[in-house]
Amino acid sequence: MITVRSLLDDAWYERYTRISQLNIRSSIYDVTNKCNLRCKGCFFFSSDEHKLHDGEEKDVKKWEEFVDSEVARGVNLAILIGGEPTLFLDRVEAFYRRVPTYCATNGIIKVPRDRFPDMMVGISLWGDSEDEKVLRGRDVFSISLNNYTGDDYTYYLYTLTPKQIGRIERVVKRIRDAGLKVHFQLLSNDEGAEGFHWNESQLSDVRGEMDALLDSYPDTVISSRYYHQVITTGEMLGRKWGWMECPSVTEPMDRRDPQPKRLIRFIRWGADLETMHRCCTSATRDCTTCKDGAAHMSWIMVNKRAHMRSTQDFQNFIEVYEMFAKLYRFIPW
Ligand code: SF4
Ligand code: SF4
Repeated sequence: MITVRSLLDDAWYERYTRISQLNIRSSIYDVTNKCNLRCKGCFFFSSDEHKLHDGEEKDVKKWEEFVDSEVARGVNLAILIGGEPTLFLDRVEAFYRRVPTYCATNGIIKVPRDRFPDMMVGISLWGDSEDEKVLRGRDVFSISLNNYTGDDYTYYLYTLTPKQIGRIERVVKRIRDAGLKVHFQLLSNDEGAEGFHWNESQLSDVRGEMDALLDSYPDTVISSRYYHQVITTGEMLGRKWGWMECPSVTEPMDRRDPQPKRLIRFIRWGADLETMHRCCTSATRDCTTCKDGAAHMSWIMVNKRAHMRSTQDFQNFIEVYEMFAKLYRFIPW
């Protein structure tokens, strides 16, 4: 019988032991429907999710009670998105004081570290200054770099586009020089921005570039080759990515049959604290072309047993799990 121990030498077994003790139960929260940007391809606005509910809960006490009920439900990692969460720091604080919290932001407003000393911050980045002007209307990168240089609890979530191929390194260098980390994902292009669709050869090229950057900047890039393989091919262990495989579907809305391996108790909540969204991105996104990085990462992580077919496959699984744990600071960078 294949066991974990039989697949791993001592060093790998120790790495496995470290991650196997983590029992992460995450959910995602829209802190607000408002944003100080309007990026082309933002899944939140392109799917009109900001209009879906009556509004957003404005009473901070209600947020505090809501977070308490989420903790009682078993959530031990709150992932805050939006809109732009930093527009409502009282709501962010309602989470931060109660549960390990990760805050996604565009980086325009600096999270005050006297109030949130060790909250994980993920800054969304859509390319170099030139691309950010096209997709986000301004050079957000320079602003966020200025705000977060040297911050130990911050990384860039760099959404790569086909236009970035061959130009990623200079962005990574700027991030390294600012003493920050970077993690990659791929643009899904929900709004069909001209020139931002992927073709097979571009996906292969970007995979090669991500691999090379991981090798050249191991202290800056938080990633793994296997993750690159899965997000660029949409395949894992011969299985194709899509609705019937996605792990990041809101649990009370999940009526798939057969049920795939999935995130336990996962819900994505709207900012009214009542609406549930279908999944970690938008309900209007086509699952067959969805490139969401976190969902693909979770796909690997919930399929541990399937990776126990060879030492290489299981080491790939461990590396992706470690990558996730680093991104949320469950283990050091
Ligand atoms: S900053 Fe984020 S939430 Fe705001 S428009 Fe851009 S992608 Fe959407
Ligand atoms: S859009 Fe992506 S994250 Fe949402 S259900 Fe489909 S595959 Fe999953």
